[in-house]
Amino acid sequence: MKIAVLPGDGIGPEVTREAVRVIEALDLGIAMDEALVGGCAYKAKGHPLPAETLDLARASDAILFGAVGDPDCDALERHLRPEQAILGLRKELTLFANLRPAKVFAGLESHSALRPEVAGAIDLLIVRELNGDVYFGEKGFRQNAKGEREGYDIMSYSESEVRRIAHVAFRAAMGRGKRLCSVDKANVLETSQLWRDVIVEVAKDYPQVELEHMYVDNAAMQLVRAPGKFDVVVTGNLFGDILSDQASMCVGSIGLLASASLGERQTAHGTFGLYEPIHGSAPDIAGKGLANPMATILSAAMLLRHSLGLAQAADRIEAAVAAVLADGVLGGDLGGTAGTAEIGDAVLAKL
Ligand code: ATP
Ligand code: MG
Repeated sequence: MKIAVLPGDGIGPEVTREAVRVIEALDLGIAMDEALVGGCAYKAKGHPLPAETLDLARASDAILFGAVGDPDCDALERHLRPEQAILGLRKELTLFANLRPAKVFAGLESHSALRPEVAGAIDLLIVRELNGDVYFGEKGFRQNAKGEREGYDIMSYSESEVRRIAHVAFRAAMGRGKRLCSVDKANVLETSQLWRDVIVEVAKDYPQVELEHMYVDNAAMQLVRAPGKFDVVVTGNLFGDILSDQASMCVGSIGLLASASLGERQTAHGTFGLYEPIHGSAPDIAGKGLANPMATILSAAMLLRHSLGLAQAADRIEAAVAAVLADGVLGGDLGGTAGTAEIGDAVLAKL
């Protein structure tokens, strides 16, 4: 088992270091190799995603990714900017399924944008399709019959694109509360009708999962009204973009939210994927030892679960994180004073 560790820029290396320490402490016999990505890769190698970094990623079972972004690179041409590295990895490795868990840890309810009693019930996972939808259809400008300029973006999904994300979502549901809510707009959109048909077909492979369909407008409302009712939510690229940000604000703490982007390739024990915190490189606090590493540590737990089949180790990490937070060891993003290494040490102590 091998992990490619890509720390990146800003606070990326600081938070990744703590996640690596946590994986090492579990003594799982995993090899970890590091490579440059983002602004630091541009500075050293002339490209934000050097060939050797991509090669290492391809030769690994999973990628642990920190963050990319570097104010020094703001003036570069678009294809050389640090952010292109993550887009390049998603594209080159066909990472089509974005998983974002949203959970409010005990004691942190007041950080949510919602009422504490509503927030406290949140423990859901959003599975967003990443490679299709309106982002990748034909798009452009044309002149309409009135002679006005008109913009258009074609929304499309193929059966195979929906089928593969459906399997990811049903498998995720099997590993959680066995409830799946598929979000679409089937009353208006043909893509959504196809989406619904394929979801219903794939559901036959997962008879233990309770399936529900919801229109996206209702889902946006329910996510604020009664978020505790959701377990796994699966949706397309556009709806998922919006709902996953909405869900993260319902939780409220940027330093605690992890994500996975899963690919097509099956590893010996799971699915190949890239794991990263949802926050960015945070240049304002980089190099100060202030960044909260929890989101990256939780991303490492997702990596062990989804790519390496080590669900028990993942559970142990998540339980340790919850215990540290319950003890009130909080980073600056949560109004606390604990530094990066201090939080990492506290997680290691709980393990
Ligand atoms: P990007 O464009 O890379 O997403 P950004 O500036 O939009 O960068 P972040 O880098 O996520 O967003 O930072 C947003 C704010 O949250 C910053 O003030 C940053 O210091 C803070 N922040 C982000 N991540 C953490 C963290 N892990 N711990 C503490 N504070 C954080
Ligand atoms: Mg940002």
